[in-house]
Amino acid sequence: MNSKKSKKKVCEKCGSSNLKTKSTTYPVQMGERQMNIGRVSVKECQDCLSLHPTQKGEEKIERAMGAFSNLFG
Ligand SMILES: [Zn+2]
Repeated sequence: MNSKKSKKKVCEKCGSSNLKTKSTTYPVQMGERQMNIGRVSVKECQDCLSLHPTQKGEEKIERAMGAFSNLFG
């Protein structure tokens, strides 16, 4: 039996595995607007400094975006 594909996290931009988890303000572009979601759990690439939300972070972003589209949709 093959085990599932390795779930090792790497940076989507530069492929670095040098990621550090932190909680930060995460900017999301929605159409012409940009919203900053506070205290999103992300992994920050230490090489190119791009942010990759963790699963928890993704959930928070989705909730915030849902609330945002209710306000402006
Ligand atoms: Zn990177």
